[in-house]
Amino acid sequence: MKAHPVISFDNTEFAFEYKSNKELKKARFLFASMGTPWLVKLGLNLTPWAIRSGLPVKGLIRNTIFSQFVGGETLEETAIVAKKLGEYNVQVILDYGVEGGEDGEEGFKLATTEFIRVINYAATQPNVPFMSIKITGFARFALLEKLDAAMHANTGTLMKKYLKAIDDLPEEEKEEWHRVRVRVMRICETAAAKNVGVLVDAEETWIQDPVDALTILMMDTFNKGRCVVYNTIQHYRIDRLQFLKDSYAAASERDFILGAKLVRGAYMEKERRRAAEKGYPSPIQPDKESSDRDYNEGLEFCVEHIDRIALIVASHNEYSNLYATELLKQKGLPLNHPHIHWSQLYGMSDNITFNLAHAGCSVSKYLPFGPIKDVIPYLMRRAQENTSVKGQTGRELVLIKKELERRSAGK
Ligand SMILES: Cc1cc2nc3c(=O)[nH]c(=O)nc-3n(C[C@H](O)[C@H](O)[C@H](O)COP(=O)(O)OP(=O)(O)OC[C@H]3O[C@@H](n4cnc5c(N)ncnc54)[C@H](O)[C@@H]3O)c2cc1C
Repeated sequence: MKAHPVISFDNTEFAFEYKSNKELKKARFLFASMGTPWLVKLGLNLTPWAIRSGLPVKGLIRNTIFSQFVGGETLEETAIVAKKLGEYNVQVILDYGVEGGEDGEEGFKLATTEFIRVINYAATQPNVPFMSIKITGFARFALLEKLDAAMHANTGTLMKKYLKAIDDLPEEEKEEWHRVRVRVMRICETAAAKNVGVLVDAEETWIQDPVDALTILMMDTFNKGRCVVYNTIQHYRIDRLQFLKDSYAAASERDFILGAKLVRGAYMEKERRRAAEKGYPSPIQPDKESSDRDYNEGLEFCVEHIDRIALIVASHNEYSNLYATELLKQKGLPLNHPHIHWSQLYGMSDNITFNLAHAGCSVSKYLPFGPIKDVIPYLMRRAQENTSVKGQTGRELVLIKKELERRSAGK
């Protein structure tokens, strides 16, 4: 095996090689704006209202935050971005950005057709190995919530609790859940046939148990000898390191490959608020250090069992990303081991993505696409998480400014 190259996330030349000066200046303007809390607050309040009222704001959104974080309004538009990323050995995870099927059964059916179209399309592209799905795109939120609550009231293993919860549903809802399973099954079947990985996103704790059970059942069916389906594990939850270990035990027992996309988790405030309002203990770690500790222990566990776990390091945390490369090195494994992949959201942390790609890692950008009105919730989350100057925005801005200076100095 070749020695591992030295990886530095400070190399802005590699990080932004794919961006012209004009694009980089636009990104500087956007991140500087997102570092202005009152501006973000105003945007967050006004944008959904302006879209609903039919005000002509789409052009403004398309040219600013949309073009930074989204691949396009249609699947075909993402091809331009994917091609560009491919030139730098960066792959793409297609993320059809419609969140929550508010249109009922008809909407779920349409979403299923659209996801199958995404898989068929991904299979024709040289650098689109995965697509992501949200179970809320195929199932009524209230039904997931009901199943989750029933599972909590039951005892035994996750699977026993799940089967009992379904058994206890009234006939009509049993059939409704059956339709959800068929939709997810069709997606996984198509993905398996086309050799495209399916990443199931993790959502709020009050709907997550049926999502986990369904995903594990899909892994049991499709992950024999190779990994098609991946579950997402949120390490900001106090119980998820154990859940990762239990999932591994199930995979060993049933002889399937565990697909594990490790994240810290995106709904911290919402989770804490709900727990406080309803008077149950918060499922979230007490502090950032605890989330970091469990995340990194999760990485250790996955690399330790890499023969049976296909790991996706889905994070913008520089330490965690680098630590995963170190763990491989310690085990004498190559950076391009087929069971490890790294991923960051499009529009963020190019310094991590492009430097990992340069070192020979298998790495991708999570690339959402969809009509502007449908990706607004996703964009709002990006704007919110980028508001903190201490956090990612500060880091992005510093790197962009550093690269612009480097270019103007002709270094
Ligand atoms: C490719 C990709 C896919 C993703 N998919 C999902 C998904 O399916 N579901 C999902 O929920 N999220 C998903 N995320 C988002 C992810 O969960 C994080 O919100 C985001 O990436 C920030 O965490 P980080 O690891 O990048 O690093 P950091 O910036 O180091 O960590 C920030 C995170 O740490 C945690 N944290 C911060 N403060 C505290 C505190 N006081 N106490 C406890 N924990 C704290 C929170 O989770 C916060 O988001 C995805 C991210 C990526 C890059």
